[in-house]
Amino acid sequence: MFHSARIKLAAWYLLIIMLISVCFSVAMYQILTSELDRVEQIQRSRIEHGLFDRSSIPFFDPALIIEAKERLKLFLFVIDLGILGSSTLAGYFLAGRTLKPIAQMVDEQNRFIGDASHELRTPLTSLKTEIEVNLRDKNLSITEAKKLLVSNLEEVDHLQILSDNLIKFTQYQKGEKGLIVSDVSLLSIAEEATKRVMVNAKAKKISIENNIKDIIIKGNKQTLTELFIIFLDNSIKYSPQKSKVSLSSEKTDGHVLIHIKDEGIGIEKDEIPHLFDRFYRADKSRTKTYIQGYGLGLAIAKQIVDRHNGSISVKSKINEGSVFTIKIPR
Ligand code: ADP
Repeated sequence: MFHSARIKLAAWYLLIIMLISVCFSVAMYQILTSELDRVEQIQRSRIEHGLFDRSSIPFFDPALIIEAKERLKLFLFVIDLGILGSSTLAGYFLAGRTLKPIAQMVDEQNRFIGDASHELRTPLTSLKTEIEVNLRDKNLSITEAKKLLVSNLEEVDHLQILSDNLIKFTQYQKGEKGLIVSDVSLLSIAEEATKRVMVNAKAKKISIENNIKDIIIKGNKQTLTELFIIFLDNSIKYSPQKSKVSLSSEKTDGHVLIHIKDEGIGIEKDEIPHLFDRFYRADKSRTKTYIQGYGLGLAIAKQIVDRHNGSISVKSKINEGSVFTIKIPR
């Protein structure tokens, strides 16, 4: 698809260059030949009117003027031919350069659609199978039907989370959500986020220690709260019962560092560079006791931090825990 687009674009470039070049050559030819005609005319009239002695002016040969015109035509033709050759190559090269970012974007979009549909297919298939199997069961009791509905509802909830995350991710990626930046208190953001994940923490008897200092930073309150929720949610999800998750902060030159520490399952070293890729899930979260997730949380977190001109780093030890550090300019 992009090869034919490249050829078409190159042809358009070539057409424009050649139009300019041919117009320029025709104009040059007209100007120079009319100049030669004028000189010839003046010479002729001076000789005819005997304005000066024939021997005092250089030898005048009209055939030379005709030859000069022919040579001029040939020169301009050769120059145009040269421009045609070089601009064919340059046009093809430039068309490639022009289309490269578009091709990359389309590739990226296709990959995203592929990944997203793959993620959607799994819960949809299990939902469909469950419903079909139960519909075929002639002796399905009310209790069993209710159990089925509860399970279906769970799947629908997961699908809703996935679609919400997909929307969020694409909005941030497109930069659509124009961030309104103001002075925000890091402590109040941490408190709000902690409140919102408390249900999940309580369900696993996990305590959350909030040691965030009351630092004022320039940022977007809503997305920063979302950022804290993503990290806290993960810390809870990937930690054992009755463990501890702690939040702390420190000021450095022009930056603030926020640490989210847990005593969870940890992350393999070679997986750390991929954690922020969309749909990436580390092996441990996929195998053994499956932990629900779609690998979009950290990808969204990265977009939020990027839009605050910050960065994220991770330190982790298997079966000991992880520390995620967010660095944001103050
Ligand atoms: P999700 O949690 O939905 O799978 P995320 O993008 O939030 O997606 O996280 C990507 C992966 O990073 C997770 O699947 C998990 O393997 C790993 N991960 C994230 N946070 C932690 C953590 N605190 N402890 C251990 N692993 C983590």
